[in-house]
Amino acid sequence: MTTQPSSDLSQLSGVLPFMMDSTERKALLRGRLARVDAVATSILARHDYPPAVAELSAESIALAACLSSTMDFDGVFTLQAKGDRDVGTLFADVTSEGAVRAYAQIADDFDAATPLGDPAPLMTLMGTGYLAFTVDQGENGRYQGIVPIEDPDLNAVAMRYFYNSEQLDTALLLAARPDGQGGWQAASLMLQRIPETGGNNVTKPFSDEDDDLWHTACTLMATCTRDELVDATLSGEDLLHRLFHELDVSILPFRPMVDQCRCSPERVERMLASLPDDEKRDLADDDQIITVSCEFCKKDHKIKL
Ligand SMILES: [Zn+2]
Repeated sequence: MTTQPSSDLSQLSGVLPFMMDSTERKALLRGRLARVDAVATSILARHDYPPAVAELSAESIALAACLSSTMDFDGVFTLQAKGDRDVGTLFADVTSEGAVRAYAQIADDFDAATPLGDPAPLMTLMGTGYLAFTVDQGENGRYQGIVPIEDPDLNAVAMRYFYNSEQLDTALLLAARPDGQGGWQAASLMLQRIPETGGNNVTKPFSDEDDDLWHTACTLMATCTRDELVDATLSGEDLLHRLFHELDVSILPFRPMVDQCRCSPERVERMLASLPDDEKRDLADDDQIITVSCEFCKKDHKIKL
C-alpha cells in the first residue's frame, strides 16, 4: 500500500480531504472526495448480490467512507438503512482506522434481473423506512442521527438528513457503477461549510463573502457528473482541480481505507456465550460444533460446544 502514490485513487481506496480559500476567509469550506473502487469490488465479490443491490451497496460504502472522514472520532461510523421491501437492510461501517465492512439483506425471491438505476433506486428497492448514521466510540459515547426514507435515492435521503438535522450546509454527490471488468466503481464528493465560532462558542453568521464562496463552490460542484466522479482515468487531485480551479483548493493528506472485517473466533465465542444452553444445542451439529458464518466476510467460524 505504501508503494502507491498518494494521489492514485484509482488503485487505492480512501478519502481525499480538501479545503478552499481557507486562508482568505473566516469560515472554513471543507470537502471530501471518497473513491472506494477496490474496497467495494472486494466486498461485493464475496456477496454475489444481484447487480441492482450491489450498486446500492457500493453507493452506501462510498457514502459511509465520505461521512466517516468528516468526524473526529475513535471508534466506528455506521450507515444503516431499514426498509419494508426487497432490501430489508443496507449496512456499511468504517472504523477510525479505515477498515470498511458492508452487507445488504435481501428477500429470497428478489428478481436478479432488476435493472440498475443512475443513481441506484433506493426507495424502489427498500420501500419506506429510515436511514441512520451512528458514531460509536465505546465507553466514550454514541451518537445517532436518523432520517426517514422519503426520497428516491441514497444521495437525496442523505441530503435530507443534513438539511433536517445538521447545522452544517452540505452538498453531496454519490455514484456507483460496474467497472466493466466484474468489479465496481464507487465515489462520493461532499462540500460543507463550517461557521466560525467566537467567544463563548457562539457561532458567527456568515458574511456576504462567505455566502458567495459557498454558492460558487456548490455551482462548480454541480457541474460534476456521476461519470466524472467515478472516472478511473482521472486522479482525485485532478478531478478536484478541474472542478474547483477558480477557487484556492488545498488538498490534505489522503486517508486510505481497506476491506477488513473485525470478526474473530473470540468474538463469536463471546456471542455464543450469551445464548441459553438449549439454543446452543439446537445450533450444534452431531459433532457438537456450531458453525457461525460472518455476514460481512462470509468466513465460517466453527466453535466446539
Ligand atoms: Zn467477518
